[in-house]
Order: sequence, then C-alpha cells, then structure tokens
Amino acid sequence: MDRHMSYVQKHPKVTKDRLAHFMSDNLLKDANLRAALYDGRVSGSPHIKLEVWAASGLERPTFAEAVKQEYKPVDIGHMFGPSWASHWVRATLQIPEEFAGKEVRLIFNPSCEAMVWSEAGEPLQGITGGEGRELHVDYIVTKCAPQASEPPLQVVLYLEVASNGTFGNGDFVIGPPKPDREFRLASADLVVYNHSAWAMFYDLQILEGMAAPLPDTSSVRAWQALATANAMVNAFELGDPDSIAEARAIGAQFFAAKGGEANHQVYAIGNCHIDTAWLWPYDETKRKIARSWSTQMDYMDRYPEYKFAASQAQQFEWLRVLYPSLFERLKEKAKCGQFLPIGATWSEFDANLPSGESLVRQFLLGQRFFEKHFGERSKVFWLPDTFGYSSQLPQIVKLAGAKYFFTQKLSWNNVNKFPHTTFRWIGLDGSHILTHMSPAETYVGQVTASELVDSLKKHKDIAYSNESLYLYGNGDGGGGPLEAMLERMRRVEDVDGLPRVKNAHPNEFYEHVEKTAKELVAWKGELYFELHRGTYTSQALTKKYNRQCEFLLRDVEMLSVIAQTVDSRFAYPADELTRMWQQVCLNQFHDVIPGSSIEIVYKDSTAIYEEVVASAVALKQQALSVLVASSTDAPQATGLAVVNTSSWARTEVIAVPGLAQQAGGVQQMSKRNDVALVLATVPGCSVHAVDLSAQAAAVEQVAPVRVIREEDGSVVLQNAFVAARISADGRLTSLLDLQQQRELVPSGAQSNVLELYDDLPIYWDAWDIEIYSQEKVRPVEGASITVVDEGPLVASVAVEAKVGKASSIRQWISLSASSARLDFDCDVDWHENRKCLKVAFTWDIYSDQATYETQFGVVQRPTHRNTSWDMAKFEVCAHKFADLSEYGYGVALLNDCKYGYATLANTMTLTLLRSPKAPDANCDMGQHSFRYAVYPHTGMFNESDVVREAYHFNVALSHLPVDLGATNLAALSSFFALDNAPNVVLDSVKAAEDDSRDVVVRLYETYGGHARAILSTLLNVGAAYTTNILEEKEADLELKQAVAPSQGQSVALNFRPFQIVTVRFSAANPSKN
Ligand SMILES: [Zn+2]
Repeated sequence: MDRHMSYVQKHPKVTKDRLAHFMSDNLLKDANLRAALYDGRVSGSPHIKLEVWAASGLERPTFAEAVKQEYKPVDIGHMFGPSWASHWVRATLQIPEEFAGKEVRLIFNPSCEAMVWSEAGEPLQGITGGEGRELHVDYIVTKCAPQASEPPLQVVLYLEVASNGTFGNGDFVIGPPKPDREFRLASADLVVYNHSAWAMFYDLQILEGMAAPLPDTSSVRAWQALATANAMVNAFELGDPDSIAEARAIGAQFFAAKGGEANHQVYAIGNCHIDTAWLWPYDETKRKIARSWSTQMDYMDRYPEYKFAASQAQQFEWLRVLYPSLFERLKEKAKCGQFLPIGATWSEFDANLPSGESLVRQFLLGQRFFEKHFGERSKVFWLPDTFGYSSQLPQIVKLAGAKYFFTQKLSWNNVNKFPHTTFRWIGLDGSHILTHMSPAETYVGQVTASELVDSLKKHKDIAYSNESLYLYGNGDGGGGPLEAMLERMRRVEDVDGLPRVKNAHPNEFYEHVEKTAKELVAWKGELYFELHRGTYTSQALTKKYNRQCEFLLRDVEMLSVIAQTVDSRFAYPADELTRMWQQVCLNQFHDVIPGSSIEIVYKDSTAIYEEVVASAVALKQQALSVLVASSTDAPQATGLAVVNTSSWARTEVIAVPGLAQQAGGVQQMSKRNDVALVLATVPGCSVHAVDLSAQAAAVEQVAPVRVIREEDGSVVLQNAFVAARISADGRLTSLLDLQQQRELVPSGAQSNVLELYDDLPIYWDAWDIEIYSQEKVRPVEGASITVVDEGPLVASVAVEAKVGKASSIRQWISLSASSARLDFDCDVDWHENRKCLKVAFTWDIYSDQATYETQFGVVQRPTHRNTSWDMAKFEVCAHKFADLSEYGYGVALLNDCKYGYATLANTMTLTLLRSPKAPDANCDMGQHSFRYAVYPHTGMFNESDVVREAYHFNVALSHLPVDLGATNLAALSSFFALDNAPNVVLDSVKAAEDDSRDVVVRLYETYGGHARAILSTLLNVGAAYTTNILEEKEADLELKQAVAPSQGQSVALNFRPFQIVTVRFSAANPSKN
C-alpha cells in the first residue's frame, strides 16, 4: 500500500479548507502560495518619493491646474480628506537595479479612488483603493526595467486622489455620505510579479470554484477538480520555480478535457456599470468614467481577445469633452471591436416615470450620438439596472432602429420569480423584441465557476436556446473587470464541467439566438418590477420638475415651429432645445429621477432643472412675441391672446395675474391669490383673442358655479355638471353627477381621505414601499374648512389640517363653471420620519380592472389580489391619471407630478409624499406644492375624454395681455388640426433634427383601438411621409387640400391600437433653407 496515496474523496471538506488556506492572505501567507506571488518589492526613499498638494475646498482641478501647484513631501499613513476633496500626489519613482529586465509595477493604495497621470498630462489608468473585491491598485511602470549597463530609469507620475470610495462616502452601502471621511495612504511600493505563481493562483481559483459544491454533488468533474487542486498543492515547494511548473502541468491535464457538443454557450462581456449619479454627484461620475474606461483600455492592450461594453451617450460625451485624448483612444478601440459602445440611449433611464416623448428623445439623442462618433447605431437596448420596464418600450425600441433588449433587474423581484430568460417581449401595441435576462442574475460578475454554472442552472428557456449572456466586471461605482477576471476568463473557454465561455459582442449572442432558437416563449405587456415601488414618489421636486420640463419643452417646440413658419426671420432654437433635452434626459437616469440618490445629487439636478425651466420660459416668450406682436402692458389690455397647444378646442377658466377687476369686464377675482379669472374658449393649436369686455356675456353662456352652505358645516360646490359636498373636516362626502343624477361616493363612505402610513422598508429606504405598510394606516383627522371663492367662475374651499407629528397641509378644493373636474391644490409642510402620505378616493364603481396612463397609452391592472402576481402590484406607476370605470360610468384621478397609485376594490389611492432617510437623510423635508383632481365621466374609460382632461390639468392655457384693436391673430387658428379620431393625440411638433427646416409631428393612439385620423396643417408643405422616431422615411403620405382652404393641407393617417406615428412635413419651397 502506498503510504502517500490521496484520500481526497474521503475528506472533501478538509481538502477544500486546505486549498482555501493555501491561497489565503491569512496567518499562513508566509508559507503558502501568497509567499511566492512577488519576486521583489521596494518602498520609500530612494526608490519612491511622494509629494502632495491638496485642492482647496471640494474643487476638482484639472491636471493643468494641479501640476502648477506647490507639493509637500508625504509618507505612508498620510490622510486624504475630507469627503469629496481632491488631492494630487507626485510620485517620483527610481527603478532599482535588481529589477533589471523585469516588469515593474507600482502598488499605490490611497484607500479611495484615484487616477494615474503621466508627467506629460496623459490620463493613464484608474486606481480603486481600500480592500475587498473592487481593489485595483497596481500600475505597470515598465514592461522591462533597464539593465545595469543602461541608464537608470526614473519615472514621474501624478496621482489624482478623490476622497471617496467606489460607493461614495456613506458608512454603509446606502448610508448618507459622512462629510468628514478620511482615507489613509496605505501603500506605495515598486514590485515585480512572479507571473507563474499568479498563473497557478488563477488555476486554483477555478478548480476551487468547480469543487465548491462538494460533497453535495455527484459531478465527476467536481471530484476531479478537487483532486487536481490537491495534487497541485502537494507539488508546490516555496522558493522552487520548477515546482510551480510541475503543479501547473497537473492543472493543465484537467483543463485539457473539453466539454461536449451540447454544452451551454456563455457569451461574456466585460462591463463596469457606472451609475451616472447615485452615492456620488455627476462631477465625480465624470472622473469615474475616465478612471474606469482608461483601466479597461489598458487591459484591451494586454488581452487582445477582451471585449468591453459601455452604454449611455451622456458618459461618452463627458469623456469627449473632458478627456479628449482618452476619447480618441476609445474610438480606436471601438474600431477594432474591443470597446463596444451600446445601449442606444442618452442615459440608462428610469423607464417608469419619463413621458413617451422623453423616451423617444432618449433614443433620438443616444442613437444620433453613437452614429456620429462611432459610425453605427446600437442594436441592443441596454438597461441592466432599471426599476421596471414600460409596455411601450418594444415599440419605441423598434422605431429607434434597435431590436434587442437586455436586463437582469427582475431577478430582484421580492414576490414572484420572473419565468423567462430568453423570450419575445410583446409590447402594448403588439410590437415585440428579442429579450434576454442574464441567468447569472448580475451585471457585476466576478468570473467564478459558480456564476458560470448559474448561467446554465438558472436559465429558464434552455430547451429552446442553449446560450446566455454574462456580464462581468465590478460596477455600480465603475471599476470593471480586473486582471484576475481576465486571467480566469482564459481558463474557462472550454472546460468539461463548465459551460463554454467566449468574449463576445452582445449582438453576436442575439444574432445567434435569432438564427438558432426554436420557438421562443413570449411575455405580453409591462415588465413590472416587484421592488422599489417607492421610487414613484421619493424626491418629489425632481419628479415635479421633470413633468414641468416635458410640457414646457413641448410648448417651446410647437410654438417655435409656428413662429418660424409665420416669420422666416425667426430662428428655431435647435441647439438650445437639444441641450435642454440632454439635461432632462440626464436627470432621468435610473437613480436620479427615481429618488434613490444622495442629497448633493438633488442640489445638482435642481440647478439643472431651474436652468432648463428658465431657458424654456424665455424661449417660449420669444416664440410668442413673434406670434403676438402687439402684446401690451396689462393695464391697457383690452383682451388676452390665449395659447392652446393641444390639438383640440378648450373652454376653461384661466387665472390672469396682474389684471385688475376694473380692466374691462373681468367677472371674478380669486380671493385665494387675488388674480383675475377669465373664461376662454380657444380652438386647438391656436393663439386666440379673448375680448375682456365680452366676459359678462360669456359667463352667462355657462351656468355659474356656486357655493351652498349646509347646516352640518359642510359646503357644496355646484356647477352645471356636478355637486361636490365637502364635509366640515375636509372630506368629499358626496359627488353627484347632476346630469345623470348619479351619486359617486358610496353611502357611508368618504373620499379625499388623507392617510398616513408607516413606511419602513426592509432595506432600500428611498426605494421601497413594502406591502405590510398598508396594515398600519392612520387617517388625517381634525381638518377645518373655510369657503374662499363663491363664483361665478370658480368656487373653492380651503382645508387645513395637521399631519403626523410635525407636518401640516393646506388644500384648496375648487370647482370651475366650465368642467366637471374637481381640483385639489395642496401646500404641504412635511417633516416626517419614514411616514408616507396618501390620499384615498372610494367610488361607487365596480370593476376588476383599473386603467393607468403609461407612455403613449394606458395599461390595465387588477383591483384585486387573487394571485401573487396581482398582489405584488400593490403600488403601481401611472402618469397623468388613473381611472376606475364600470359599464356606463367612471372616475379618473388626475395629478400634476405624482406617479404612485394603488387600487383595491373600489378605492383608489395616490401616494403624495414619503420620508425616507437613506441615502438622502433629508429627502423631501420641507415645503411641497402639488395638485390632484377627480374627473367623473359617463361611459367607460375608453369612451371618455380623460386623456384630454389630464392634458388640461397639466398644461394651463398660456396668455398674453393684448390691445385687441392692434392685434390680428386670425392666421394662428388651428395651425394643426386632427379630425375623425378622438382616440388619437397629437403629442409633439418639432423641427427635424437635421437642418432641413422639415417639421416632425408625433401622434399616438391612446385608448386601444384603430383610427383613421385626418391631420391638417397651415405649414407650407411640399411633401409628407411617415418616419421612425429617428425621423427617417418609412412611407409616403398623400397630401390633400384640407376641406376648408383656411385649414391648409392634410394627410390621412391610419393607427392600430397604441401605435406611435411620426409624420414628417417637408417645406414646399426648398429655397427657404
Ligand atoms: Zn445602476
């Protein structure tokens, strides 16, 4: 009997422990493989001289500024800080003679992030200090140090040290940043790697991973991996290079066994998910991009097979402007197919909150950028980390020239496991795209045996498509793959016991699936994310600004198109609009608009929004001043030029500040804010004169709204359509449709009930509302009411209440003479801790489904919790409205900046405010103003005009005071008109992206039916055709003279349910160009 025979199979756990200790940085490190990893190491003088300069405050100076400063000597142990401060280190390196002929690396660990610069100012490579799996602190100073006979090598490097970790400056992952964090300079050494020992180390990592499931697996290869690793440990002799060669030869026999023909194929892609802002501000992201991508380009030089993908045109644009030499290098790497710009969009956006047109702009800006700078568009729509996916995305993706979709986020669902991996995703309109959700369930893969096995084990469609995508590389805060991962990648290309793995472009994967997959399963409708349901509400101001900007930019574009048609001297502000849309799309990033970033990010986003709003207001004014040349100061005004950018006529009461009652025939001044109230009727897409002296007659045409005080202290607001009773404590206790004689508040029930919920999620504070929060609800009690306005145009009641421990609400409930819509304008002073404020409306309506507005359409979701899939949707996203309808009647709940809805049985709630404390400790504290409204209607939702009413509620008619005698607005009537299709909405009018002076009009079908719409326009049109959303021709349209000559020309457009149609009009007279 051989006394030295291995008994591995009898004691797998002991052998696994032995292996772990052989590779570990523990107390055995002076005798195990770790002790063999370096052939040389020097520190301190004379080999390394370190000097530092600290930038003042929290400035992030450029290299050019930094090198001019005075540097002071420092040593190991120096502290960098406070949080976010920048320090520049000058390192003067003297390569020792004993390193002659060797590759020499600098190990520089500042315990935070840093960038290595050459003495000449070239950004070379990123550094991720600290400890843990992100650690990347080595920089290759020379591939071959000079021989003793040659002149000695001295290298000067600059290290731009950023006082933040990869995940910012919190004391736990999502902890709010601490202002005074410091980072210790832990090491600065020159070292020579023993590459054979490192190679053995990587071999063993793979073997260890393959043996990990033992003894709970019957896999032959797992046992063989363990036995092989054990034999390699036996062969190793510290200090004997031949023993490493012998050990590696044992390993090579194992790795030589290839997998079978039916083996699963993994397409691996390096990536470094960089959140465009999250636990750090935009300005730090700009440096993270340069650090991460320069590191990856260095790996591309060293590993020619390596492929790395990055998304978000915004990040490429920052690199182009701030690091032009890196951008040029990147373009070279893109040309040779190693750096893969993908994703098709401006930012990796949140897909719940942005409007349909915003999503269009994300692709328009993104694809145009990729095409301009890299010569091609992206076929892959890439959102690995976004919190749910709108059902309109398949259509938009296809219209943007892309065809594939990638994510993995639904693996985070906390109720149901999503059932598919590779599938056809069918959108709202029936468009479908090939979709893949990485079965390894990560975008920060570490190239481990277990992740590769997961690619096979967790694949849910392997019967039809035996392949998967695998994203590896550190991320969220950037970083990307490390040398160790690339080395392990080389070892797993084709090894029996693991799936086959290859570096690949994502297109290669999708194209192969398209060619070879048997029939793929399909999923219809939204990819609802069963987590992060609080992101429809957190950081209220950001959401409000986003909504405001979307509508403001819509007005600026349409009015500018009209202005340039009316007056050829008017220049359409194309560059300004592009810049503003880029800013809006930037803030739609998947941690900014959802509300999941730190406080300083919202200081930045607010400043961006304020600038966009100010520019847009000024541009709108410029366009209007062309259209309404004779606007006058208010006191002389005899009329108003009222602007309606909707494509349908509107009759509304508008509030006109600065206009006194004595000015002409103003019939009512609002007591709430002392503004004049004026009744206006304006055709669609028109600027229309309203004669103030005719107000009395106009008001007589509509029945005035009035106030009835009841004995129990409640107040009824009544117009020709409805009577709304507000109880003495501010609840809506009755809403009577006067024409139908139908009571909408069930007997004994109340609506407009403000409710305070406990809102303590399991971990992700700003992100999550959890289902159990609904079990702990307190209605807001003790409100009081006061009558404010009593008609004839507006009647209103003010409600005041204390909310929770330290908050209060003031609410104006108002009804105008012109609509059945009951408005609730709210001012809230909000100071709660993990409480959520909702408002609840209970209706006498019976339905299994409620309807919620989404981008370019609506989706229906259950009002019950039959199944776990129904239950998981206890809080859902809607845009301007949600609606509860039964046969014959319905009520919509509209909002001007809120997105979180829920409907259970006949009660619909709107989530108003939250108060999470991480990662922003002050999230949403302070003043808020927002509005919501209820709009009762006869007929079911799809027979109603709720969509139009929701536009009205969000965009008031704008107006300018004019002297009627000097104004002629006739030419501006019905500039665009849409007939024959009440279910089609004209959403946007803009100049084409090229400088052609063509005009692009975007429309969509909103109720889920077919339509044949007649679109007419007063533009001077020579040709018309439909396009994709990149504004490229699809089909010619026949131009006809509109029925009335004053209506210009028209085209007929066919729609299928929820279809987005883009029409492009070319000018009749090209000489205008
Ligand atoms: Zn992310």
